[in-house]
Amino acid sequence: MSEMGNEIYDVTIIGGGPAGLFAAFYAGLRGMKTLLVDALPELGGQLAVLYPEKYIYDVPGFPKILAKDLVKNLVEQATQSEPTIRLEEQVTNLVPNGDKQITLATTRGEYQTKAVLIAAGVGAFAPNKLDAPGVARLENKGVFYFVRSKAEFAGKNLLIVGGGDSAIDWALNLQDTAKSITLIHRRDQFRAHEGSIKDLYASPTNVLTFWELKEVHGENQVEAVTIVNNQTGEERELPMDAVLLTLGFKADMGPIKNWGLSLEKRSLKVDGKFATSMPGVYAAGDIAAAEVKLDLIAVGFGQAAVAVNAIKTYVDPKARLFPGHSSEKSEAPAKAAV
Ligand SMILES: Cc1cc2nc3c(=O)[nH]c(=O)nc-3n(C[C@H](O)[C@H](O)[C@H](O)COP(=O)(O)OP(=O)(O)OC[C@H]3O[C@@H](n4cnc5c(N)ncnc54)[C@H](O)[C@@H]3O)c2cc1C
Repeated sequence: MSEMGNEIYDVTIIGGGPAGLFAAFYAGLRGMKTLLVDALPELGGQLAVLYPEKYIYDVPGFPKILAKDLVKNLVEQATQSEPTIRLEEQVTNLVPNGDKQITLATTRGEYQTKAVLIAAGVGAFAPNKLDAPGVARLENKGVFYFVRSKAEFAGKNLLIVGGGDSAIDWALNLQDTAKSITLIHRRDQFRAHEGSIKDLYASPTNVLTFWELKEVHGENQVEAVTIVNNQTGEERELPMDAVLLTLGFKADMGPIKNWGLSLEKRSLKVDGKFATSMPGVYAAGDIAAAEVKLDLIAVGFGQAAVAVNAIKTYVDPKARLFPGHSSEKSEAPAKAAV
């Protein structure tokens, strides 16, 4: 396992959902050297993967905001102080390693950090994978579970599989990039925003309901797919250059349960400062078993602010707990006095 440089972070935030993102902002405000790690290739946690197109009505200051727009704002706010952000990396182990030094092992390497804020929500998200011939072999060779760059689909004949917001969003979003788009869904009901479904049918996308992906063909790159109609058994082979599978996500609390932290059901026990049972390790958001447990974005924001300010005093015992008022800072948060 490789060590990612010799840096020692003041705080490492595990999870880039709303709690982790707001924590990253606050850690920047407090002048801490910050690392944020998320298992997904995108930030936003549940908002990004489970309900990007839904309106949220209970975030203070926003009478109504689309989940994906809230994520965009949170990312803009969190990145002002340029924290290090590592995506597609799951934290697999946490080991205290001396005075104010914790080693974090991830699926890609190791980090040293003085303190940790676990904002891991319901666990690390991973896409549901499809177990059909050719899919695993051609993953990232034309078969994708995420759109990392629209350019990847430029001029391609694209098959999208799925019936949720993401499937429809990408069918609409990649319209001007891909050469052609076929969307297959195993049912005739979509789990998506009504307006998007209407737009989908009005778009040039070839929408096929009751069809499933049976096989992906190609040597080193996707060349064709076989799809099957689950009502009639009819099979069709279609020439394709790319396949985008949007089949939902599963969350895995997995490794966190084995780090030696006190648990309460599927959450981490915390005190009033959101410290867990291990010195230097804090938790906020859905994963924190606070005395009053309300799994809401607004609650996670408050917990993140308390936890990060407590972490500041843990890392630097001379620092004040109260961060001062952000409105009184004349400079960007990165340059704010701490
Ligand atoms: C359909 C739906 C609608 C909702 N609507 C609302 C609403 O209207 N208002 C409201 O307040 N709340 C709503 N919620 C709840 C809200 O989304 C959650 O309370 C919120 O997302 C919790 O934020 P979080 O940052 O604690 O965790 P999450 O959003 O779960 O983010 C945690 C992140 O941590 C990452 N992670 C976990 N473990 C690891 C690891 N080991 N290594 C690396 N990364 C890891 C995950 O990949 C994930 O990205 C809704 C939830 C759902 C499912």
